[in-house]
Amino acid sequence: MRIGIIGAGQLGQMLGFAARDLNAECRFVDPSASPPAAQCGKVIQSGFDDPVALIALAETCDVITYEFENVPVEALQHIEGLAPVYPPAAALRHSQDRLDEKKLFNVLEIPLPGYHAIDTREDMDTAAAQLGLPMVIKTRRFGYDGKGQFVARIADDLDAAWEELGGQPLIAEQWVPFEYEVSCIGVRSVSGEIAIYPLSRNVHADGILSTSRSPVNESELAELASDYVHRLLNHLDYVGVLALELFVVGDQLLANEFAPRVHNSGHWSIEGSETSQFENHLRAITDMPLGSTASTGHAGMVNLIGEIRSETRALDIGSLHDYGKTPRPGRKLGHFTVVADTAEQRDALVGIIDSTVT
Ligand code: AMP
Repeated sequence: MRIGIIGAGQLGQMLGFAARDLNAECRFVDPSASPPAAQCGKVIQSGFDDPVALIALAETCDVITYEFENVPVEALQHIEGLAPVYPPAAALRHSQDRLDEKKLFNVLEIPLPGYHAIDTREDMDTAAAQLGLPMVIKTRRFGYDGKGQFVARIADDLDAAWEELGGQPLIAEQWVPFEYEVSCIGVRSVSGEIAIYPLSRNVHADGILSTSRSPVNESELAELASDYVHRLLNHLDYVGVLALELFVVGDQLLANEFAPRVHNSGHWSIEGSETSQFENHLRAITDMPLGSTASTGHAGMVNLIGEIRSETRALDIGSLHDYGKTPRPGRKLGHFTVVADTAEQRDALVGIIDSTVT
């Protein structure tokens, strides 16, 4: 079995490691000269939208998947008919446009914050009047890790927001005074088998994920989130891993966004689950029975951003994953996972890792 993966970053690398355990081979398309996944299989060095490279990938692989959601949907259309492509293009299309994504949440009756589409400077005023301030203004497309976002706190901020982001399709969202953020990772196979991971509780700094902890000791929230993920997976006739990010407000969950791929908030599953999200993604797209998503303990994951310090490397309390990327401010270079018997022990270990990264 050979699996073609569009993108050879750290997610591709972790998929590649999981593929080895399943005796599958991976092949990648990526524009970088030496991307993290190069150690896991052949890389066709080319743009994600290059039909020649994608056709070469599809003609030599049994199934195609992708590791990031900014792959042009049209690019996938070039290879339709050559090999199955999972997750389906419809899921990718919804996730690429925040307005489409919110409409999908509405159709599926998944609660979400109030929003307003913005195309003109006047729309900003209308949105502010309707949603109230503060509100978050986001680009509808190509945003990630908090990029392309502006928090307007007072009416005077709207000009600056327009100055920074105007001229492209935008969306304004009600500011959510959430208690904390969670994500729910689900997986659905070609045959329609579904498995859901325990919730992750996530902390972001400057829009970038910094820590995840799982499981979350809130069974009602977990049930709600699982129900929402089931709705998405079944409605989209989805195949593969999907991550739904949610805000916790009292006993309610409000959907923020979903990613049609393996997700940073599920990296703990490599050590903290009986089957990692990466293995289950591969099982799903190759129509193997899914593995158990039961936790092996209380897991904590800390992202290593900008640099991996020698103090972090010296820790012997868990697993360091170094993606082998060149250090750059704000860049995700690796992560560190711990698994403990209790949530308290896990939190203490996360505190130790944190003390080496800040
Ligand atoms: P996003 O790129 O939409 O996932 O946003 C990145 C992070 O910004 C989220 O994980 C939240 O911490 C914060 N954020 C995004 N949207 C909102 C909102 N409407 N209200 C409050 N915080 C938000």
